[in-house]
Amino acid sequence: QSQEISQVSIDYHVALQALVEDGTKMVCTGRMHTDRICRFESLCYSTEAEEFVFFHSSSSVMLPNLGSRRFQPALLDLSSVEDHNTQYFNFVELPAAALKFMPKPVFVPDVALIMNRFNPDNLMHVFHDDLLPIFYTMQQFPDLDLETRLFFMEGWGEGLHFELYKLLSSKQPLLREQLKTLGRLLCFTKSYVGLSKITTWYQYGFVQPQGPKANILVSGNEIRQFKTFMMKRLNVSLEGIPGEEYIIVFSRTINRLILNEAELILALAQEFQMKTITVSIEDHTFSEIVRLISNASMLVSMHGAQLVMSLFLPRGATVVELFPFAINPEHYTPYKTLSTLPGMDLQYISWQNTEKGNTVTYPDRPWDQGGIAHLDKAEQDRIIKSNEVSRHLCCSNPEWLFRIYQDTKINIASLIQIIRQTVKTKPGPKKQKWTSGLYPGKVRDAKCQASIQGTSEAKLSVSWQIPWNLKYLKVREVKYEVWIQEQGENTYMPYILSHQNHTFSDNIKPFTNYLVWIRCIFNKNLLGPFADMLVCST
Ligand code: UDP
Repeated sequence: QSQEISQVSIDYHVALQALVEDGTKMVCTGRMHTDRICRFESLCYSTEAEEFVFFHSSSSVMLPNLGSRRFQPALLDLSSVEDHNTQYFNFVELPAAALKFMPKPVFVPDVALIMNRFNPDNLMHVFHDDLLPIFYTMQQFPDLDLETRLFFMEGWGEGLHFELYKLLSSKQPLLREQLKTLGRLLCFTKSYVGLSKITTWYQYGFVQPQGPKANILVSGNEIRQFKTFMMKRLNVSLEGIPGEEYIIVFSRTINRLILNEAELILALAQEFQMKTITVSIEDHTFSEIVRLISNASMLVSMHGAQLVMSLFLPRGATVVELFPFAINPEHYTPYKTLSTLPGMDLQYISWQNTEKGNTVTYPDRPWDQGGIAHLDKAEQDRIIKSNEVSRHLCCSNPEWLFRIYQDTKINIASLIQIIRQTVKTKPGPKKQKWTSGLYPGKVRDAKCQASIQGTSEAKLSVSWQIPWNLKYLKVREVKYEVWIQEQGENTYMPYILSHQNHTFSDNIKPFTNYLVWIRCIFNKNLLGPFADMLVCST
């Protein structure tokens, strides 16, 4: 992996002349700064000013051309976290002629993906905010292949999990600090700026209390594609993993401890008649953890970033998330949301310590590890007396930090009982359903025929053909939903039917226009699109 940027592979004078003559070209996708990714030719960066530079010439292109709206609040988000005011991207503009008076540009020949990592020391943030978005941003643009050079502009050092970022491309990622060593004015021959947010499933509570994103667009399938890629790049082999089914306890060793871990392990092994092993970030390499998790039947862990690793579990496995006293599991659901993504095929169970006697608090620790000694006495008393942390914003609510950094003695009986409510026999991989999430197409050739009986009664016979894709599918149950609406009314009568035709006579009047909608439903909950509306006149 070469870190220095070679200037040999490009003809310097040709490149410089092209930059002076053509300037910068930018074409972006997205309508708002929060969904924008931009492709640039000849985007430059001044390492002295720490600013990106757009050079104008008669051939430069800037789309969208937002005028001063480019600063309201920014051109785009550099990280995958939506609209975070420390993560904005913009550039300053200069005429290309100014290059004459500037430091000699150093050209970056690699195709670059320029972005911010959000919190590279926290594993949840690493996967959710950076690795998955980088992986799928690269899938979106064919230029971004394994030869891509990643540029992390947030200004952090490598961070604790740099090895994971290195898996995404064959070239060493570069940090903002390192750019200084390359030159005073860097010009990226071809670059993409920004990250796709399409895979993120959680918002951390900057403007409203944390929770699942309002409009989740990722399914288990894409998470598994990413998992497969990462396992290949990590060279994970399945040699040496237990042949039989097993349970993993993912433990934390620094804080938020399980105080009776040995007892927990014994109880799990006994109850499920399975080998039970412990892993931790401190004692295992990533490859080892991934290798073990990718074949486990159950993963048990305290709430915390390490639980993002449940994305490596096999389908059908069970995730058991443990919450300390006064922390309501329904209010902190990054891992529940992950486990229950459509098609993720994991069983999710949460358990909360409800016994004050089983919790150990640390009021005298520094505030960022949950200490509360800095608060006034009344507030300390209130926190200590409270049995639940109310919903709050990120990121430094002292009551939340106090409670989330407690250690917990697990009430084994209550935990086993909760797991048993969901996992009836043995946990672990189930036989896979192969047509799980495929939706019906429209029904075809819908027709209606009306007949009148006397002056007050009428019938409406409606028929249709199966959706085109049904003949290629094995579907457990096929039903049809028909809505009949009298033209001009704003209510309708819904029917669920098993056959491809039906004669309606209830509430059907003569000499009336009816609007008829029909759609197909697979397996009770896979609702297809409505076919074109039929107008039927009795
Ligand atoms: N961490 C760990 N062991 C510990 C405590 C923390 O490996 O005993 C890791 C954790 O997985 C995360 C990082 O340290 O990647 C930061 O942990 P923190 O408690 O700040 O965040 P949380 O886990 O609550 O998201």
